[in-house]
Parts: sequence; C-alpha cells; structure tokens
Amino acid sequence: MARDVVGEIMITQEQINERARQIGAQITEDYKGEEVVLIGILRGAVLWMGDIMKNVDLDMIIDFMAVSSYGASTKSSGVVKIIKDLDSDIEGKHVIIVEDIVDSGTTLNYLKHYLQNRNTKSVRICTLLNKPEGRRVDIDVDYIGFEVEDKFIVGYGLDFDQRYRNLPYISFLKD
Ligand code: 5GP
Ligand code: MG
Ligand code: MG
Repeated sequence: MARDVVGEIMITQEQINERARQIGAQITEDYKGEEVVLIGILRGAVLWMGDIMKNVDLDMIIDFMAVSSYGASTKSSGVVKIIKDLDSDIEGKHVIIVEDIVDSGTTLNYLKHYLQNRNTKSVRICTLLNKPEGRRVDIDVDYIGFEVEDKFIVGYGLDFDQRYRNLPYISFLKD
C-alpha cells in the first residue's frame, strides 16, 4: 500500500473511541424515552457508525444510504445522487444521519431535506469530522466528533479513490 502519500496521524483511534462514548451518551440523554433511526452514509461512515451505535442506549434501528462521492477527485462536484436508498420506513421517526465528514455541506443539506420530506419527526446530523473552511451551504450540524483543517482527510473510513479506509486513525494526503 502506498502509505508514503499519507501524512502523520492527526486523530488516533483511542481519541475517536472516547469522543464516540461522549456523543453516544449525549444522544442517549437527548432522546430519552424515544426510538431513533440511525442512518449511516456509505461507505465513509462505517467505522464511526459502529462506534456511535454501540454507545447509544435507546431503542433503535439502523439503516444505510449510499450517495455519490468525489470518486478519484479531491473536489466536490456539488451534485448529489442517491446510489442506495433506505430499506426501512422512517415516517414519524426521529432520524440521526451518521456521516464521515461535513465539508461544503452540499451532501448533508440535500440528505436532510430528503429525509425531512419523508415526514420524519426530526432529522439531526452526527459527523465524525467537520471541515468549517470548506463550507458553501449553511447547515446545522448537531453532533461533531472533531474539527479538522482544510486538508484532504483519509483513514477511519475516509478514502482517496476507495483506498485508505482501513487506516485505524485519521490522517491526510500529502500534496
Ligand atoms: P460535502 O462537500 O458535500 O460536505 O462532502 C461530501 C462528501 O465528500 C463527504 O461525505 C465525504 O464522503 C467526502 N469528503 C469531503 N471532504 C473530504 C475529505 O477531506 N476526505 C475524504 N476522503 N472525503 C471527503
Ligand atoms: Mg469518498
Ligand atoms: Mg460521506
């Protein structure tokens, strides 16, 4: 694996696990007595989804969606396409979208409206990473693992051209 293009460790697995425990506890408190649907966004959110769901002590179901991503480019096309839709009925439910990173905000802005239009009770966002400098669409992000600077992030689910998702830490691509 061409790891020479990957920079140093920015966030360790231990830091991510600890943050997931805190956010999981917060979600458990915020939705006390309610049922929730966690929707993981494939494929980047797989590891973070696992971390969050095991720390949320509520009645829940999980589901997944896949949307178009950057492909082999490091810039957003601004166009969102649904590759895999939900299998579950979410009408009248509290939904939490679990995403890997919020950059421009285009993807989550689209997804949030899409899910609100299905007559959900509420839609919130839980992201592993937030890159505020990339923002082009104003969007409320309810639960944030970590803020990152404006670099192309890889690892812990995040890819470059489908690679590096398996790195057990957050790093970045060297230019
Ligand atoms: P958006 O620009 O719409 O907020 O981000 C769309 C998607 O692009 C994210 O969900 C993520 O999958 C991908 N993305 C954005 N920034 C990065 C990044 O720094 N690294 C990687 N690997 N993917 C990113
Ligand atoms: Mg990607
Ligand atoms: Mg994503």
